[in-house]
Amino acid sequence: MQDDSFIPYGRQSIDEQDIAAVVSVLRSKVITTGPAIASFEKRMSNYIGAQYTVAVCNGTAALHTALFAAGIGKQDEVIVPSMTFAATANAVLYCGGTPVFADVKSSTLLIDPLMVEQIITSKTKAIIAVDYAGQPCDYTKLRRIADKHNLILISDACHALGASYQDQKVGTLADITAFSFHPVKHITSGEGGMISTNNPHYNLRMRQFRNHGINIDHQQRTESNAWFYQMDFLGYNYRITDFQCALGESQLSKLDPWIQKRRDIASQYDTAFENHNAITTLKAHSDRRHAYHLYVVKFSNSINRDDVFKLLREKKIGVNVHYIPVHLHPYYKNIQGTKEGMCPVAEAAYRSILSLPMFPELSKSDLQFVIKEVKSAITVVQGKNQ
Ligand SMILES: *Cc1c(COP(=O)(O)O)cnc(C)c1O
Repeated sequence: MQDDSFIPYGRQSIDEQDIAAVVSVLRSKVITTGPAIASFEKRMSNYIGAQYTVAVCNGTAALHTALFAAGIGKQDEVIVPSMTFAATANAVLYCGGTPVFADVKSSTLLIDPLMVEQIITSKTKAIIAVDYAGQPCDYTKLRRIADKHNLILISDACHALGASYQDQKVGTLADITAFSFHPVKHITSGEGGMISTNNPHYNLRMRQFRNHGINIDHQQRTESNAWFYQMDFLGYNYRITDFQCALGESQLSKLDPWIQKRRDIASQYDTAFENHNAITTLKAHSDRRHAYHLYVVKFSNSINRDDVFKLLREKKIGVNVHYIPVHLHPYYKNIQGTKEGMCPVAEAAYRSILSLPMFPELSKSDLQFVIKEVKSAITVVQGKNQ
């Protein structure tokens, strides 16, 4: 469908080292529940500085697993930002809980701690912070709120692997952190996810949850020449394969230079749009290392975003909108009665944002082409208004 000249908003980078790593597992005797999983987990633990990491089959499963470990169940409310991918809130529903939507700050589109405090009730059990676009949330304030109200702080860091907050890597800033390895994210395992924590109790529950709630896995039984196992609670099959983990681990060794590339691209976009009358770039806080999963611009009210979108797509530029506020999806409106007006900042942002191409292999010439075409699309749209 998409020809070679199409520039997507995000894309994986795979090299011969990655391919060799996958092939080597495929040639081995064990392709799932084997040593490549523990090896990837260990490398991730070392990278983010977390005591425990648990690899699962995708980022959504990682969020579900995190919320299960946190003990979220019926009657529990979990505060989530409205400006996120639906999976963040869906994971709360998987546990039988109720997502309660918090508005975001307009300068960063990160969850607004003031809004969080306003919607806490006696039923609130956790907060999910989403490090939107790759910038860590205000973890100092969120931690203070969580401690004050005895809430578990969970981080949806699916955008933010390799980012840091006040020199501390994303992965230990919350009680539990979830990552995704979907191909548009910083590193990929095809599909894949990981949860990190420093809490040994959460770690054990998460390992068991990804394997049906069974207390001992297939490899452990083989090694100990035992057949007996018990299912202690209702878990899922959220396992990831060894060849996926081999890919993930190989990718991880290239993460830092890739983030540097992303930051370079962001800084060129920033400079190009700095004094533009119709474009606002999102604020990047100086106490945080932004990992730039996305590069998002906001257009002024006079610009019809959908017109700009159409013009850029005609130029084969894969711009996108991240995100439709979750509380505006028909499903949430139907089951929870959420409606327009509940998160006015997220809703206004949604009408004016556009994600521009952002991935390590975006060439200099493609980047210049995107910048030029964004500016000229705005000029065309402005002309139409007059
Ligand atoms: C990608 C993403 C997810 C889900 O990850 P999958 O691996 O696609 O299941 C969840 N939350 C956010 C914010 C994401 O960007």
